[in-house]
Amino acid sequence: MVPRVVFGKDSFNQLSDILLPKRKHQGAPFIFLVDDVFKESEIATKIPLVCNDQIIFVSTNEEPKTVQVDALVQKIQRKFSILPSGVIGIGGGTLLDLAKAVSVALTNEGSSADYQGWDLVKKPSIYHVGIPTISGTGAEVSRTAVLTGPAKKLGINSDHTTFDQVILDPNLTRGVCKEQWFYTGMDCFIHCIESLNGTYLNAFSQSYGEKALELCKDVFLGKPTPEESRDKLMMASWHGGMSIAYSQVGAAHAMSYGLGYLLGVKHGIGNCLVFQHLDEFYPLGVRLFNQMQEKRGIVMPQGICAGLSDEDFDTMIGVAMAMQPLWENALGKDWRNYIDREKLRSIYEKI
Ligand code: NAD
Ligand code: ZN
Repeated sequence: MVPRVVFGKDSFNQLSDILLPKRKHQGAPFIFLVDDVFKESEIATKIPLVCNDQIIFVSTNEEPKTVQVDALVQKIQRKFSILPSGVIGIGGGTLLDLAKAVSVALTNEGSSADYQGWDLVKKPSIYHVGIPTISGTGAEVSRTAVLTGPAKKLGINSDHTTFDQVILDPNLTRGVCKEQWFYTGMDCFIHCIESLNGTYLNAFSQSYGEKALELCKDVFLGKPTPEESRDKLMMASWHGGMSIAYSQVGAAHAMSYGLGYLLGVKHGIGNCLVFQHLDEFYPLGVRLFNQMQEKRGIVMPQGICAGLSDEDFDTMIGVAMAMQPLWENALGKDWRNYIDREKLRSIYEKI
């Protein structure tokens, strides 16, 4: 679990006070990994730089890769001969995962790809702080940093991955455009549906999942003010992340990984593209999703899989079928009785 969290409008202004006692000494900088969408923004000017602290702006054109993490670590090590005091990630799931992975890789030898998997991280990471600027992924609270590596797309799942501190400031999400707000928000909604309808459900995942689902319904089907909407979605993201931390995601995520791996389709939109066709598994969830999409006037792209070769479909199906725990959560231990390659192909062909 994340041991420290503050929530509230303009809580970002507390960053300086929060970091002060964590500075090891004057020579050990804080490294701020910041979404480059904020390069010219007020948020960047408010980052409390002291001594040799450094901001590194990072593009979110692509989702995080192990080579990108390794390059960031080398850049930091080349510039500073000692370990930094900490890493602060400011942005969406992409930046949060990068900050988690860099803080782990700075203290663990080799490539970050060596740590993709479960509990492979040997040494504690350096102090790291997550500051989300868009709500939905739950990356601020999870114990994974999802990375695409040379051989697989898989998270660094460990107790050392989890942030030491999170700052939840809903005002930071103000500039998000409607489409991205919807797709990343739907990531949270889909976390809830997959967790609450999964066979791994337990008292913890249920209580977090129910709260997050209620908040998602308020945000996407109700009439909240913009301010209420930002507050609620940020809380929903946290609770949705906690829900899957105690259980697992399901069919939409398994198939979305296939789209991401082959076509580079991003996590949020990829989940939506798949989820709309999963009424067989999540009938109520898909009905709610359709209502939310209509109410918010979102038109999803079509024909994403048109023109793909048999080999392409096989690649996506292979990636999706390899997500065994996700299918087991979705359909039970005998999931192979319900899911085969033809079934997945028929769903991909609709996208
Ligand atoms: P993202 O971080 O890629 O951001 C999406 C877009 O929104 C980007 O263009 C970004 O620049 C922009 N943006 C972010 N904040 C903004 C703001 N305040 N104003 C204007 N634009 C803003 O997208 P995401 O959906 O948050 O994250 C997706 C990533 O999260 C994927 O890499 C996925 O694998 C990962 N993920 C991780 C977990 C986890 O538990 N670790 C869970 C789900 C998803
Ligand atoms: Zn997700």
